[in-house]
Amino acid sequence: MLDLVLADGELVVPETGVARGSVGIKDGRIAVVAAPGETLTARETIDCSGRWVFPGLIDPHTHVGFGDKERDFGTEARSAALGGVTALFTFHRSADLRESSGPWIAEGERRSCIDFGLHFGLTSALHIDTLQETAKRFGVSSFKVYLMYKGAAGAAKGFTEIDDGLLFRTMLEARRVPGGVVGVHCENVEVIPVFRGPLKAAGRNDLAAWDEQSPDFLEAENVSRVIYFAAKAECPVNIVHLSSREGLEIVRRHRAVHRNPVHVETCAHYLTMTRDDPAGILAKVNPPLRRQTDCDALWEGVADGSIETVGSDHVPRKVATKGTDLWSASAGFPGLATLLPLMIEDGHYGRGLPLTRIAAVTSLNVARLYGLPSKGSIAAGKDADLVVVDPHTKRAVDHATLASFSDYTPMQGRMLRGWPVHTLVRGRPVVADGRLTEAALTAPAGRYLRRAV
Ligand SMILES: [Zn+2]
Repeated sequence: MLDLVLADGELVVPETGVARGSVGIKDGRIAVVAAPGETLTARETIDCSGRWVFPGLIDPHTHVGFGDKERDFGTEARSAALGGVTALFTFHRSADLRESSGPWIAEGERRSCIDFGLHFGLTSALHIDTLQETAKRFGVSSFKVYLMYKGAAGAAKGFTEIDDGLLFRTMLEARRVPGGVVGVHCENVEVIPVFRGPLKAAGRNDLAAWDEQSPDFLEAENVSRVIYFAAKAECPVNIVHLSSREGLEIVRRHRAVHRNPVHVETCAHYLTMTRDDPAGILAKVNPPLRRQTDCDALWEGVADGSIETVGSDHVPRKVATKGTDLWSASAGFPGLATLLPLMIEDGHYGRGLPLTRIAAVTSLNVARLYGLPSKGSIAAGKDADLVVVDPHTKRAVDHATLASFSDYTPMQGRMLRGWPVHTLVRGRPVVADGRLTEAALTAPAGRYLRRAV
């Protein structure tokens, strides 16, 4: 007897297409995918007719802990679940990863109602010296280097060892880790002050000025160097949160000549928001929001496969950290709960992007890139991480309903379709009829995603 059946939904299977069918779940895994007409008997059946069933989203890019430290694992996982996200990767940074990683993972296991994995943020020589050890011990195969924290900009944040040497050493070490990949934040931070000074002096306080102080070519220049270094180091590299057409052009040019794997991630906000967004300072983020032509180019990249993954770069801060001054406002904003509806409203309905492509960039490709063979699709044997989506009901984004530690969202008021109705994590309902379940609230059972390293 099956535990649960999702009956007669439109199943969005990224590898094969959208087809009517039912999903039978047993012991947290998908036991059977049945064609229409086949009857499955289970203890419980959820009628999914007229609804889409997606593989649970795996957000490749979040910052758990930037809001209320370890409590974020509770709040942000619940917000994620409401958005159909059943697993996330979060960046973990500390002075010594050997000491901090164990307790941090334990907090996640205690509080998170969805599964979670870590990327290590590497900011010092010690991190590189101990990379093989920490990778094996904690099952982490993905690393991030922050080129925007080089030099004076890094010193202001307490980082004094970030330079091209650290980047190159990271690549040399990461390529020895099975499945190893280096993600890089690309912005040429040494040139930014050239633009920032005059903009500040001119009294600019609008969101577009944030783009003008770090224009697209400062991202593209870093992208170029990173890919070139990666080819020489023979290390797979991932351009995370790519924001500009110019950057994507550079990626395409390099891919034509270098065989070394170059992966590209973008975020929902680079696809759906511009520097002229009415959210203003609330939408300050690094890299900055660009122009409509950049959004258009990135959507094309998602459609043609040159962009493989889409995340949220979720940062759960309070609105008070933004203030009214562009230059001192905190960067980043929440996005876990709106990732799927934004992709569906603007991507599918707005641009005809196939649902399977959305499932690929938000789930399958993330699972493949980061070594999660049991996740990313709808097939017998996979974890029963599933989202049942209402295709039709338009609802305004309202931060008050999204359960995050954050008390705002720059998407406030946007009318979106594609909201999750049910979210299952390994067969366990964490959202039912659009509401967090008792289990999600009182007995979170998210697991740490240890990669085979
Ligand atoms: Zn970044």
